[in-house]
Amino acid sequence: MRKVYLDNNATTRMREEVLEAMLPFCKDIYGNASSIHQFGRAARRAVDEAREKVASLLGASSTEEIIFTSGGTEADNLAIKGIAAALKSKGDHIITSAIEHHAVLNTCKFLEKNGYRVTYVGVDKDGIVNLDELKKAVTDKTILITIIYANNEVGTIEPVGDIAKIAGEKKVHFHTDAVQAVGKIPFEAKGINVDLLSMSAHKIYGPKGVGALYIKKGVKIMPQMLGGHHEMGKRAGTENVAGIVGMGKAAELARKELPMEAKRLEELRDYLYKGIISNIDHVRLNGHPEKRLPNTLNVGFKYLEGESIILNLDMEGIGVSTGSACTSGSLEPSHVLTAMGVDPAETQGSIRFSLGRDNTKEDMDYVIKVLPPIIKRLRDMSPLYEKGK
Ligand SMILES: *Cc1c(COP(=O)(O)O)cnc(C)c1O
Repeated sequence: MRKVYLDNNATTRMREEVLEAMLPFCKDIYGNASSIHQFGRAARRAVDEAREKVASLLGASSTEEIIFTSGGTEADNLAIKGIAAALKSKGDHIITSAIEHHAVLNTCKFLEKNGYRVTYVGVDKDGIVNLDELKKAVTDKTILITIIYANNEVGTIEPVGDIAKIAGEKKVHFHTDAVQAVGKIPFEAKGINVDLLSMSAHKIYGPKGVGALYIKKGVKIMPQMLGGHHEMGKRAGTENVAGIVGMGKAAELARKELPMEAKRLEELRDYLYKGIISNIDHVRLNGHPEKRLPNTLNVGFKYLEGESIILNLDMEGIGVSTGSACTSGSLEPSHVLTAMGVDPAETQGSIRFSLGRDNTKEDMDYVIKVLPPIIKRLRDMSPLYEKGK
């Protein structure tokens, strides 16, 4: 059976070049990057080179602004808890949005339980953060604004430049979870003037379990992992050298291929969407029609349950998701679609197709062939469809 993986916002297949770059560091170059002998120095050199590649992809001013972590989740935790702890004497208020990834949402909830106050700013029907509401939420006790760069479920790209400007005027630190934006859309951390920015390797064809936090020069955070003096004293623990090397390679390739690949994916995605709407009724596009990640298509199939569509597509070899890997398995409606004001009856039948570098036009044609009969069969069994028709 044909296999079509369309869940690249959950994770990607590691590139062959990435694996090749990592292998020597799983075998012969095993030194501790903190050791001063030649074994350690070889590992240190590799980590430094990877740091340069990541700094270059993120548009950092210097390699010292890049702190390696165990992934996007840890980068988000380090940014938010690190600022909260460092600025506790200055204020206790944090602003975020209602459509963040759980790595940010649950970190904010944790801080709420520990004496901080958090404002969750709303979004419009396309998932764009309400800037007026954000501006009004800032008080003299606000220490951090943390807003996702591009949403993982619907792909909407937030106006981070404008948010950075608001944060700058109010002298508040600004963090963005850019895990989905990195490698997919062009930007420069120093250009948008963000203070902290999270990324993850496995969303850009690198290995799982490694990520990075960009911390602008001069921004002070409290380390959350304590131990040795690794990562400029901001994140203790012996470096995951092979993983870091893999992320460096993935960053180098992403930077080189971004413009062409973004265009290719966008065309494929729009071809898929056209194929879906010309063969299926009662379909809604979730997310901003234009300001959206080039690889992401989230569509609602009215009268249906997302889970049953996923299982039926799975039986045909197609891997998609309802939006967030973290909430799948629970029948709770997506917090992102809910915040966008999508009718609860429609959030349930929403499916995210997230494309990646392996996908071809033939893959899209396969989905366009397989999906309509599945939707028809499920709707014929759905009592909601009978009533709504
Ligand atoms: C995947 C993802 C994360 C988590 O990254 P991990 O490396 O899996 O911990 C955080 N934020 C967003 C937007 C993501 O898509």
